[in-house]
Amino acid sequence: MTQDYRLKSAIGADRETDLDDVWVVKKNLRDNGYYSEPSYGMTPYPDQFMFDAIKQYQKENGLKVDGVMLPDGETEQHMLDNLAAKSPTLWCTKCKGPHAGVYSMRICHNCWEKGER
Ligand SMILES: [Zn+2]
Repeated sequence: MTQDYRLKSAIGADRETDLDDVWVVKKNLRDNGYYSEPSYGMTPYPDQFMFDAIKQYQKENGLKVDGVMLPDGETEQHMLDNLAAKSPTLWCTKCKGPHAGVYSMRICHNCWEKGER
């Protein structure tokens, strides 16, 4: 079962981000031409390119341009309405929690880092 991915926590340059959130937002921004994949490739860690891409997305869509995304915030909602097809929520087969498939489609990054496969 899948559903639209919802942010677990805020995304922003001075925020404590979640790997799943960063992965989904980066993929959406990349697939829609806002984020150019850097030379080191796609990672689940925030980088300046992602914050710039969020600002670009906000600017082009008439949203407040601050490079920040909040759970249930206007930028998240706008992406869900417009880009959601590319960000389904997956369910971890170990802990049953929602995740975004950073390392595996079956197992969340927390279980993966504990060595579950
Ligand atoms: Zn898990």
